[in-house]
Amino acid sequence: MGRVYNFSSGPAMLPQPVLEKVQSELLDWRGSGMSVMEMSHRGDDFTGIAERAEAALRRLLDIPDGYRVLFLQGGATAQFSMVPMNLLRGSSADFIDTGIWSKKAMAEAAHYGKVRLAGTGEAQGFTRVPAQEVLDFDPAAAYVHYTPNETIGGVEFSYVPDSGSVPLVADMSSTILSRPMDISRFGLIYAGAQKNIGPAGLTLVIVREDLLGEPITGTPTVFDYRVYADNASMYNTPPTFAWYIAGEVFAWIEGEGGLSAMGERNQRKAAKLYALLDATGFYRAPVAQDSRSWMNVTFSLVDEALDATFLAGAEMVGLKNLKGHRTVGGMRASLYNAMPEAGVDALVEYMREFERTHG
Ligand SMILES: *Cc1c(COP(=O)(O)O)cnc(C)c1O
Repeated sequence: MGRVYNFSSGPAMLPQPVLEKVQSELLDWRGSGMSVMEMSHRGDDFTGIAERAEAALRRLLDIPDGYRVLFLQGGATAQFSMVPMNLLRGSSADFIDTGIWSKKAMAEAAHYGKVRLAGTGEAQGFTRVPAQEVLDFDPAAAYVHYTPNETIGGVEFSYVPDSGSVPLVADMSSTILSRPMDISRFGLIYAGAQKNIGPAGLTLVIVREDLLGEPITGTPTVFDYRVYADNASMYNTPPTFAWYIAGEVFAWIEGEGGLSAMGERNQRKAAKLYALLDATGFYRAPVAQDSRSWMNVTFSLVDEALDATFLAGAEMVGLKNLKGHRTVGGMRASLYNAMPEAGVDALVEYMREFERTHG
């Protein structure tokens, strides 16, 4: 089988030109006689790879001075602990609860201090994010945490919450780099790489410098942001190969026209799928219009008895991993940057045809 359209929520598709480049450099990276996997992380070759990746990310996101970029491990899940260990300082943190990932972050933070709900979408079954007007922030909170895109529910904020002077912390695992964003609105952003950045194993943190440096007593060295900031993320061996591929993904995004081009393309991709869902009684889109994710489009077949046939037929034509998360059921099409527009067109065509033959 050739390459398929992989709609997985993560690990997800990588841009094919990146995979081809990595393949061509796999045995001998640019005359070094070795693979990036085999290089010392402290040698000149890898230091250059690491610095160029960070510089490209800074250009893409227009990261202001005064913010540090950290290349970590442990996934977004490790950040559920690392954020409160470093930022909570025995105080209280506000959380906006929008579903499974925000709940997990809140549960971990509760080990280190007080957590308080500043807003929740629970009453609507997490099919809509709370509006800014109903958010209720504690001005004394150490930070406000939210999940701009709930990957499982397919629920996304169309706005950046205004938390006043309280630092805003965002789990951007499934939305970073999908469109332009204003980094200065945030105190800290984190993201596991395997959705829109690169391979699993790398976690990015972008943090405002003034938030570094006072972790709770007993914090292990490898969970202290300051240690990474002071050591160019090389206090210990970083995930070198994932870092290198992330750099190649950043270069690919720049070559494609940067984040505004990504944003336009991603909006168009999502709109095509939602237009189909809205135009039929055969499929159903559970998420409210104003909270629909561009990255993870959730939908179901009104007749659930057809789910297995739908999925099997999709697999046959190279449309893979459309099954929704086990906790919500139905279907989910993840449309990260690397999903070509042709993949969405193929899915739309398959869904039209499936409705025609089974509706
Ligand atoms: C995937 C995901 C996570 C979990 O990421 P890991 O890298 O597996 O720890 C957390 N939050 C969000 C929003 C995600 O999409």
